[in-house]
Amino acid sequence: MVETLSIAVIGAPGVGKTSIIRQFIYNDFSEVYTPTRTRYVYRPSVILNGNMYELKILDVPPISSFPSSSSQEWLDLRCRGVRNANAYILVYDICCVESFEYVKMIRQQIVEHRESSSTEVPILVVGNKRDLQRQRFMPRRAVSVLVKKTWKCGYVECSAKFNWHVVLLFKELLGIAVSRGMRQNHTSIRLQGALQRNRCTIM
Ligand code: GDP
Ligand code: MG
Repeated sequence: MVETLSIAVIGAPGVGKTSIIRQFIYNDFSEVYTPTRTRYVYRPSVILNGNMYELKILDVPPISSFPSSSSQEWLDLRCRGVRNANAYILVYDICCVESFEYVKMIRQQIVEHRESSSTEVPILVVGNKRDLQRQRFMPRRAVSVLVKKTWKCGYVECSAKFNWHVVLLFKELLGIAVSRGMRQNHTSIRLQGALQRNRCTIM
């Protein structure tokens, strides 16, 4: 049986959420900014350590807060599926402190508003636009320590523009999700290549 894992990608507008997803699935990047106005679902398949997983990646348009109840989620089309996602990717722009503040707020709300057992839900914080790192607002090490030690989340920096660490971040998140949810040992995750044509990435 193929496991399905739903991943909600959340972050302030313009941080590169859509770019990261499209680079991961289509090896495609656009310099032109097209704001995401409605929720979009991508369904790639990936192979990790010989096991196939179907991902349901939600590209979440700007939301002012994490839905605090199921009814709020269902009333706002942009939020559909966000509360029950199996994992979260919270993206910020390493050059934009406000986008980090947004991620901080959403992380806090996920912890507060998700139901009981889900405090353990995997959350990966992603610092995008690494190619612009001379303009970063905080040293990588400081953010990494804060996110990993205090927030207990994973942390990866990437560049959607140059496809740097994009596969890695999905592999990292899937590794955490699999180890928590499916109790399998994935210590030897290896990147083996990408089968872009049929949208199946071997990780
Ligand atoms: P979203 O609103 O979070 O979905 O952001 P988009 O993916 O639409 O990207 C917003 C803008 O940032 C676009 O103009 C992208 O070309 C640009 N962008 C995205 N990722 C990167 C990156 O890694 N480096 C640089 N320099 N620009 C990026
Ligand atoms: Mg977008």
